Amino acid sequence: MKIIIGAGLSGLSAAYHMGKDYRVLERDSEVGGLCRSIITKGYTFDLAPHIFFTGSQYVNGLVNELLNGDLIRQRRRAFIYTRGTYVEYPFEVNLHGLPREVIDECIEGARHRRDIQPSNFMEWICATMGEGVAKHYMVPYNEKIWKYPLEQMSIEWIAGRVPSPSVEEMIKGAESKGEREYGPNAYFLYPRVGGIGSIPNAFAKRVKETYLNSDVSEIRPKGKRLEVIYTRNGEPKRQETDKVLSSVPLPELVKMVKSAPEEVVKASEALVYNSLACFNIGVDRAVISDKHWLYFPEKQYPFNRISFPMNLSPETVPKGKSSIVVEVTYRGAKPDAAETKERVWAGLVDAEILRDDDKLEVFDALDFKYAYVVYDLNHRRNVNLIQTYLKTLGASPIGRFGEWEYLNMDKSILSGKKAAEEEAKK
Ligand SMILES: Cc1cc2nc3c(=O)[nH]c(=O)nc-3n(C[C@H](O)[C@H](O)[C@H](O)COP(=O)(O)OP(=O)(O)OC[C@H]3O[C@@H](n4cnc5c(N)ncnc54)[C@H](O)[C@@H]3O)c2cc1C
Repeated sequence: MKIIIGAGLSGLSAAYHMGKDYRVLERDSEVGGLCRSIITKGYTFDLAPHIFFTGSQYVNGLVNELLNGDLIRQRRRAFIYTRGTYVEYPFEVNLHGLPREVIDECIEGARHRRDIQPSNFMEWICATMGEGVAKHYMVPYNEKIWKYPLEQMSIEWIAGRVPSPSVEEMIKGAESKGEREYGPNAYFLYPRVGGIGSIPNAFAKRVKETYLNSDVSEIRPKGKRLEVIYTRNGEPKRQETDKVLSSVPLPELVKMVKSAPEEVVKASEALVYNSLACFNIGVDRAVISDKHWLYFPEKQYPFNRISFPMNLSPETVPKGKSSIVVEVTYRGAKPDAAETKERVWAGLVDAEILRDDDKLEVFDALDFKYAYVVYDLNHRRNVNLIQTYLKTLGASPIGRFGEWEYLNMDKSILSGKKAAEEEAKK
């Protein structure tokens, strides 16, 4: 029997595609991992805000089948809030509406882009979009979300994620709104009911052996096999296996293997990631915004992004009410929740999203230790070193923090599928 650690999307997908001879061990009392939803006072919030989009026909078909097609198709309404105005995403092709001097700087910068082969994220920004867009949006926004020197970030995660328009497209967009759709999530899907968590919940119905409340603490090599040590509902348990597929964040997985060599431990300690403080807000007022989400590059706002779940599906809020999810990334020590809450509230009023007299029916703080993999310049080397070691033991990492890659839901599902298929070949 194979052991799958974690009942997030990658673990569920691995189990589903394996079909038999597996057991999923999940620490929490429910499935879904990062992709869960909660209902509070009639408001449905995703643990962290999610939309579903994919270039994979297979995953699209699977998710539609799991939810019997009960998904709402949306055309993205995402904006950057800067200088008191809304610029449609992507910023660089929607400059109209910005002050004339900002538009001129952005166009001038784009015209004089340096023709270089970028070796880090900062160089990529300047070489792709020019100094103006870098100054007015890309640098402040990315510094805010990543909280890591952009010169020390690699560019391998960008392809297919950040649009890279031509100068002509930028000039056109400085005059008026264009017709072209940019980026992989120009259209997306969202479950009509139950929030994004309805996807793993539907998946779980197809997965037979999932042990919830099962917390793995150690993986011990035993000859050519592995012994997985865990507690189930607080009771100590052990399970021998020839294979572990693990969606546990890589640094935690390495800690579970007490015999891991020093260079592997060091590489795991050097992995860089961002944590996330999220605030779920339920507002006793209808239609506080018609948008899906907003980016905030300016320093005066503590958040990098806010979303409006009520515009993803009207079923996520009681009639006549609105909802907001606020994201504040951080690294290292957790910021004080009460103090951040105050700043979030003040920022939302300042940006005229909330009014001073708004009645907030929900204002809950959530925290995610592992939210974003940061692609520092040693990322690839460290990840390869750790994964090579773990695979020789018989423990294959899967999913966003197992693979330690910037994987969205579709790629996490495919990661579990691929690992299951590799097992089937043996
Ligand atoms: C802020 C944010 C926004 C996102 N937005 C989007 C979006 O809009 N669209 C999109 O497609 N993707 C989005 N994603 C990505 C998406 O959430 C992930 O790709 C996906 O949920 C990852 O699934 P996973 O199974 O790899 O990991 P996880 O969901 O992290 O699952 C890992 C599981 O392992 C369990 N576990 C951990 N340690 C142990 C242990 N010791 N013993 C037992 N179990 C354990 C955990 O409880 C968890 O259930 C977003 C992610 C974040 C953080």
